Amino acid sequence: MKPGFLFVITAPSGCGKGTLRRALLAEQPDIKFCPSITTRPQRPGEVRGVDYIFVSVEEFIERKRSNELVEWAEVYGNFYGTPKEDLEQALEQGYVVLLEKDVQGARTLRQAYPEGIFIFILPPSFEELERRIRTRGTENDMEQRIRLDSARREIADLAGFDYVIINEDIERATDRLVAITLGERARRDLIASKVQRGARDGKLISERCDTKDRLQVHSGTCSSQTGEANRSRAARRCACDRKTSSDSDRRDMRR
Ligand code: 5GP
Repeated sequence: MKPGFLFVITAPSGCGKGTLRRALLAEQPDIKFCPSITTRPQRPGEVRGVDYIFVSVEEFIERKRSNELVEWAEVYGNFYGTPKEDLEQALEQGYVVLLEKDVQGARTLRQAYPEGIFIFILPPSFEELERRIRTRGTENDMEQRIRLDSARREIADLAGFDYVIINEDIERATDRLVAITLGERARRDLIASKVQRGARDGKLISERCDTKDRLQVHSGTCSSQTGEANRSRAARRCACDRKTSSDSDRRDMRR
């Protein structure tokens, strides 16, 4: 069985990550979205157990106390958390798993799952973000202000994210998200097949295959290179390729 892996999308409130998540799942229905548990009330249009698992404050505290959450946060006065068992089970079963978290949650998950792919969704501008939050009408004035302030803080530090998508136009942003997930999935499949082949041939696959495969996917030029010097040259060229990528939304923030 192919190993499962993780995509995490993060965005300040009002950047359209829920819409993007639904669009991605419609395009790639084999991706498994693991909903968070939350104590916040259900919003119109949200489906229980699909968008969120809605729980009481007592249940949340009990699950946190029993160490059932990979991470948790209090956001805008409500509790949110990532159920450990659902996530671990989905990864063990080989699923491509999708999570939707705030910045802090994404950072904690990055430590627990360093191989995950972390994607940040940005609004085209603060003015537009403000307009979206004010017109959706799901928060009162005070809550809107808190969400805007926290968006400013979250956007200030994007270090640690693998990709940034500017959600100016939902169709374009969806295309980019789909392209990123397809590209990363193809890369993992390639690595998985190499590991399988290596295991069959009794060879040890080094961690470097990640870097080398990335270069092959990117430029298709390094498949005949061997040896330490060539490998590090390949890694340097790979980093360079990625930094000069023509896709302006993509930023190289990898560790
Ligand atoms: P909303 O109430 O607008 O759905 O979510 C508020 C914020 O909480 C969003 O930024 C959302 O991504 C974040 N969030 C949702 N689930 C979790 C979670 O399990 N952990 C953390 N840390 N943040 C979450």
